[in-house]
Amino acid sequence: MSCIFCDIITRKIPAEILYENECALSILDINPIHYGHALIIPKRHHRDFLEVGTDELSGIMQAVHTVSHALVKAFKLEGFNFFANNGAVAGQSVFHFHIHVTPRYHNDNIRFVLHLKRYEMKAMEETAAIIRSAITDLSMPLMRSHT
Ligand code: 5GP
Ligand code: ZN
Repeated sequence: MSCIFCDIITRKIPAEILYENECALSILDINPIHYGHALIIPKRHHRDFLEVGTDELSGIMQAVHTVSHALVKAFKLEGFNFFANNGAVAGQSVFHFHIHVTPRYHNDNIRFVLHLKRYEMKAMEETAAIIRSAITDLSMPLMRSHT
């Protein structure tokens, strides 16, 4: 299956490469929110964040950290965002996991349009309990493999 980001990683197609380490490549996004908007792309093909191996996480985040520092220094930024879209419903358009890092400026009128809710009655503690239980289920096989 063809993948534009795999083709960039293997240099089959060109990109403005900013940074590279063992796990990740960083390039300029072709349609930036602001000039300097960067992408950090794991070298291994993963559809989304859930597929990324735990052995790759620190390398990927180290690249995000380095590129964030560089953007702040290069453009004298007061702030920046980093984010990742996972799944079409969340706005993902390239299905090779990547993290966006983008400069932010005063009055740049970029807004994530949010309609914030309030938890009703016991919904907050119920929601937390559901998530904690899912985390326990996730860690079960890990704990078993350690014994
Ligand atoms: P997503 O929508 O999946 O979170 O982000 C995909 C990003 O990849 C978009 O911001 C888009 O502009 C960028 N993009 C898509 N194709 C290319 C390309 O060929 N080269 C570069 N540099 N960026 C790309
Ligand atoms: Zn890929």
